[in-house]
Amino acid sequence: MGRASSPGSVYTVSDSESEPYAPEGSSSPRKAGGKRVVKARSTIQTKGKDKAKAGVKRKADESDIEDVPIGLAVARPHSKEYHAVGAVAGLQEELLSWFEGVREKRGMPWRKRYDPSLTMEEKGQRAYEIWVSEIMLQQTQVATVIAYWQRWIEKWPTIAELAKADVEEVNAMWRGLGYYRRARSLLAGAKTVMGDKKYQGRLPDSPSQMEKEIDGVGRYTAGAICSMAYGVRTPIIDGNIHRLFTRLLAIHASQVAPQTIKALWTAAVELIETLPNDPARQGIAGDWNQALMELGSQVCKPVGPDCASCPLQTGCKAYAELKSPAPVPTSGSAICTLCESIPDIKADGRIPAVTVFPMRKEKKASREEEEVVCVTEVRRGEETHWVFVKRPEKGLLAGLFEPPTISVEADASIERQKTLAISNLDSTFAQSAADLQKAGYSLFHSAISSIPHIFSHINMTYHVQHLVLSHPDAVPLPTLVGASAVWLDAAGVESANIGTGVKKVWAEIYGSWGSFDAGAAKEKGKGKGKGVKRKSVVKGDAEAEAGGKKVKKIMMPMMPSKSS
Ligand code: SF4
Repeated sequence: MGRASSPGSVYTVSDSESEPYAPEGSSSPRKAGGKRVVKARSTIQTKGKDKAKAGVKRKADESDIEDVPIGLAVARPHSKEYHAVGAVAGLQEELLSWFEGVREKRGMPWRKRYDPSLTMEEKGQRAYEIWVSEIMLQQTQVATVIAYWQRWIEKWPTIAELAKADVEEVNAMWRGLGYYRRARSLLAGAKTVMGDKKYQGRLPDSPSQMEKEIDGVGRYTAGAICSMAYGVRTPIIDGNIHRLFTRLLAIHASQVAPQTIKALWTAAVELIETLPNDPARQGIAGDWNQALMELGSQVCKPVGPDCASCPLQTGCKAYAELKSPAPVPTSGSAICTLCESIPDIKADGRIPAVTVFPMRKEKKASREEEEVVCVTEVRRGEETHWVFVKRPEKGLLAGLFEPPTISVEADASIERQKTLAISNLDSTFAQSAADLQKAGYSLFHSAISSIPHIFSHINMTYHVQHLVLSHPDAVPLPTLVGASAVWLDAAGVESANIGTGVKKVWAEIYGSWGSFDAGAAKEKGKGKGKGVKRKSVVKGDAEAEAGGKKVKKIMMPMMPSKSS
């Protein structure tokens, strides 16, 4: 039905966003990011004087530069050296000791202190537990993941047990976390490890090998597992650390540009190298990495960072730039060509807030798509079944179930949507609609509503159509066309692996996912008490409004779409 884009990762990039930096005082305005024209400070001062000449009243002690309103992008010249990690390296013990105080705070069952006395097999078990948690945490908050992680480990306590599972089982266990591809990656990784003796039944302890050979594991995940489970001195950068580093090092550059990512990884490597190399502290890299993640997620938050409680505050360049601008490069020093100008910077070069870092992403325009969703329900006597189609095992929403859907043009009328939905019966069943009617089925159709569903790069509109085939007797179900189509009864629907778009569609007809009480949620929402039963939808003609479009909910007898 819908298509979910893969989650945005700042580490999956094109190199099209990089632009050279021209320092203040360059003869012409520079373009940053190909869009913003930056006015050099001298130009801005002239503008202030022009303003005075034009008769704007000014106090005698006002300087020209203070006339510059906040909101102009002022060049921020600084040297490459300005971004060096030295100040942060000098505070490593402070951060590690801060982490000791919060290590247990969020009750993460996979967060265990590194123990060098464990056997490789025991470390491998920890690697498995961390791996599962890291994959779950990729799009979900810790508080939610804890219960999922516990259920997962209870069902598959070891990587060997997981390798014996099938894809339906892992999808079912993953339901509610989204991005089912990740669950399948865990399964594939487990099968890889257990399918080759070279792994000795555990994830590799080499970050590069893990990244290369284990499905769904990138540089971050490999670093996290190897540093925490095996004590390897290797860095990590996730979204929280990315933001933290851009503030600590005052890097204002495209988040997805390869140069930015390279600079941040270089900093991460250098900070691992400056950690004490003490045999008594073999788990220090894992602690350091966790401390950075914890600080990024709990203190240096995207909005409202708590700088007052930050153990790295005295080494943070963003914090320093609140009070004084980035130091102007001395003659002969290499100029930073990575950073772009900062909008809303103050006239004297100070930043208005540490949250100017990281640089805002340019939002890509989403494309508009529309689909007719044919919720096809067959009632025979007391039994009800629905037609679902399983999506291909590869690609977006891979392997999930959904009602039959048809792409439709944006301006399709309700009548056209209805025609498409009814004609889709001929692609769904081996029997034609006319044959089904001859066999005693009554056919009804209702255009329910049009609802929006937002994916990362798609603004989807679902036109929900409800098709009901009703037979008074428990006759055999019609024959389905296509290997991916299945019949699901009420219990099957409730346990099916589906995306959130299907849940929304379902709720439009039945009130909520897993419910078959049509219209209940809508009617409750209107304060009309308990829901209208499914039967009333067949007969009713209540007007529904969803996604800004009104449609008539009238269950009409269908005419057969093709003759037998
Ligand atoms: Fe983040 Fe503030 Fe700490 Fe800097 S001082 S790292 S901006 S919380």
